[in-house]
Amino acid sequence: MQKRVLAFCLLALLMIPRGVAQAVVPVLSHITTQEKIIALTFDDGWSNSTSEKVRQILQDHTVVATIFPVSTWAASNRSIIKRFLDDGHEIGNHSATHPKLTSLSRKQQEQEIREAHEALAKLAGEQLTNFFRPPYGAYNQDTLQVAAKLGLQPVTWSVDSWDWRDIPVEQVVKRTLEGAKPGAVILMHLAGRNTVKALPGIITGLREQGYRFVKLSELFAGHPVARPVQSASKPVQLEYQGEALLLEPAAKLRDGMTLVPCREFLQHFGWQVFWDGDRQRAVCRQGVKYFVVQSGNTGPDALAGSLEGGKLFVPLRQIAAQIGLGLDWDSQTNKAILR
Ligand SMILES: [Zn+2]
Repeated sequence: MQKRVLAFCLLALLMIPRGVAQAVVPVLSHITTQEKIIALTFDDGWSNSTSEKVRQILQDHTVVATIFPVSTWAASNRSIIKRFLDDGHEIGNHSATHPKLTSLSRKQQEQEIREAHEALAKLAGEQLTNFFRPPYGAYNQDTLQVAAKLGLQPVTWSVDSWDWRDIPVEQVVKRTLEGAKPGAVILMHLAGRNTVKALPGIITGLREQGYRFVKLSELFAGHPVARPVQSASKPVQLEYQGEALLLEPAAKLRDGMTLVPCREFLQHFGWQVFWDGDRQRAVCRQGVKYFVVQSGNTGPDALAGSLEGGKLFVPLRQIAAQIGLGLDWDSQTNKAILR
């Protein structure tokens, strides 16, 4: 159970509003600033002992953070939640049972999020923020409208520490330090496979780079929380190094996500893609680096793709992160800018 749930908090799915009749809230993942501030966030729960170790490390290093516990877990582990709150950390909503919200009806989504809010409010009172992090970073228009209705601010992240992955601890520390930028939001977990081992190095390394740790409420202070986003029915454009990146077949929208054709996208960046028809998956290689895109349901070791018209499509944000590209979204021009 623990392994399954911990297995992946997937990278944020790129939300593109379409023909928005009702105002939805924007999804925040970072801020743009010169100031060297950064936010650590810890999701899920599931383990009292690792959560306590995380709390201890934060306390030892006098670091404040934002915690997103699953509320059913939090409700039966009140003492650890209380200790986090007593230490000055803040709490946000990560659903009641950690479902993939995009596979639920709008009504079910609302139930999940509302139940979590009520349970956490009982535990945290005033220290419950209005931040809401969808499990796996997966959301759609329904999620955003529910969030707007409940007065919650969706937040994803800009740096995934991969603390849940079966990779060397040094790699977790390295990729997090390399991904850090002023205004970044770092995703970690209360019971990630490597969290406890990696966290001291991450804190120390960021401090050496001159960063100060803030809670999300400080990072996003003054951000207009319920700003309605504009309708964007225009096709998605991609840009890389100041030039349009044209793909054939073109990028498309699906459930609020931008999907790109796996092979055609990766070829632009010097990757080779080998299709394994038997296992319905693509093995993507560049030199000694490789990863797998699996069609349909996926585990923690592969990105999820979908076969459409004989082509394998993947979420843009995930594939970009996988090959180390940054991604900014210009909602004015409906353009995804890769860097
Ligand atoms: Zn989670």
